[in-house]
Amino acid sequence: MQYDVLIIGAGPGGIFSAWELVRRKPGMKILVLETGFPLEQRRCPIDGERVKSCIGCRPCSIMNGFGGAGAFSDGKYNITNEFGGTLHEYIGKQKALELMRYVDGINLAHGGEGVRLYSTTDTHLKKQCLSHGLHLLDASVRHLGTDVNYIVLERLFEELKTQVEFRFQTTAATVEAVGGGYRVETDKGERFEARRCIISAGRSGSKWMEGVCKALDIATKSNRVDIGVRVELPYVIFSHLTDELYESKIVYRTEKYADLVRTFCMNPRGEVVNENTNGIVTVNGHSYEDPARQTDNTNFALLVAKHFSEPFKDSNGYGESIARLSNMLGGGVIVQRFGDLIAGRRSTAERIRESFTVPTLSATPGDLSLVIPKRILDGIIEMIYALDKIAPGTANIDTLLYGVEVKFYNMEVALDEHLQTRHPGLFVIGDCSGITHSLSHASASGVHVARYIAENA
Ligand SMILES: Cc1cc2nc3c(=O)[nH]c(=O)nc-3n(C[C@H](O)[C@H](O)[C@H](O)COP(=O)(O)OP(=O)(O)OC[C@H]3O[C@@H](n4cnc5c(N)ncnc54)[C@H](O)[C@@H]3O)c2cc1C
Repeated sequence: MQYDVLIIGAGPGGIFSAWELVRRKPGMKILVLETGFPLEQRRCPIDGERVKSCIGCRPCSIMNGFGGAGAFSDGKYNITNEFGGTLHEYIGKQKALELMRYVDGINLAHGGEGVRLYSTTDTHLKKQCLSHGLHLLDASVRHLGTDVNYIVLERLFEELKTQVEFRFQTTAATVEAVGGGYRVETDKGERFEARRCIISAGRSGSKWMEGVCKALDIATKSNRVDIGVRVELPYVIFSHLTDELYESKIVYRTEKYADLVRTFCMNPRGEVVNENTNGIVTVNGHSYEDPARQTDNTNFALLVAKHFSEPFKDSNGYGESIARLSNMLGGGVIVQRFGDLIAGRRSTAERIRESFTVPTLSATPGDLSLVIPKRILDGIIEMIYALDKIAPGTANIDTLLYGVEVKFYNMEVALDEHLQTRHPGLFVIGDCSGITHSLSHASASGVHVARYIAENA
């Protein structure tokens, strides 16, 4: 075998597995294959002037490259078992939290020092939320911000590159089990072999991962997609929550359908951005720690989880179809004022211009009710009115709704407590395993697998 360990994907999962392997077993021969570019070469061409919307670069510099989907993310490391994945179901709650804190320590030692840790413990806001049917989930969050997150990644790479071999712009095409190890063939026809293989292909690698599971007869299941909108409003409306908690994960059960609607990815003084997953443009958000780069707005997603039962299996396909519909009508993301939605009319460029809330993303004014299924939209509207009770102004006419935001969940890969497939030595971690959906869980899953490999090397 040419290598001891092959890692596919240099997102948080792949980075932290390499990091921990090097720390625990110096001298191990490790190769990381990555579809995208090294960090400093990752550039999204959208500049708001010459290139206003997604032009479908391959690879997409937002989703691929060193740092993975997390590189230009908001860098919010949520230390909790309440959301962000179900890693704790595999490795235990205590262990999962311990690993997330370990990752936090590494981030702090690589540029994150001095960044505040927010916590929901003992907050009076919980009671205020409960009195309006809103449930504030427990978490500690370290918000690195897009800028500090970038510095941390730069420093991690500086240390890793001397001990780990990285091949960028190299996509793993196939994974084969061969004589006590694994052979990976790349899109360039190169072949690499190793005793252990860690797949950390993230959300952008989900379709490819499905193929690998089929080829290696690894069981999978899939039944969930989250659909919703990104809400943008003046920072002051949520400042009492964001100043104390930074990110508040609030869940609401709708009166009409008893569906659960939740806030997701809150970005105080942030900006709304496009996200491109396999050519489908959806919406997301982020913010900077640096005050000079902050805006006057806060944004967050409101998402409704859609679980499907037999015979329908393609929950991601359902989410994709809805996102495609918005892309078809708006050429990308659609923006609508809350007041226009309630009045049953589309937003126009004129109405958006008149809005007191100035959009941070150039999106196409339109009508989200033509895109989002009624049941989901009703739930979002209900939650906006509920949030208005704890953050008056949320239901203002000028609150902006961007659609659609879709959280695709990778199918869940059948794994044991070591995140190992039925094939000994083949591990699946991070978002492509279907059990993590966040920076902290994906990173923690990498450390977990690395420790197991190091102990059994
Ligand atoms: C805009 C945005 C903002 C976000 N903000 C936050 C946040 O604030 N907090 C949070 O917790 N989460 C956030 N997330 C989610 C978070 O980024 C992911 O959960 C996390 O990056 C998952 O890590 P991963 O290593 O599993 O996968 P990824 O980060 O997706 O990395 C996978 C890597 O594998 C590579 N790859 C895929 N297939 C192959 C292949 N066949 N061969 C070689 N390489 C391959 C990809 O190019 C990619 O670089 C955000 C995501 C986005 C897009």
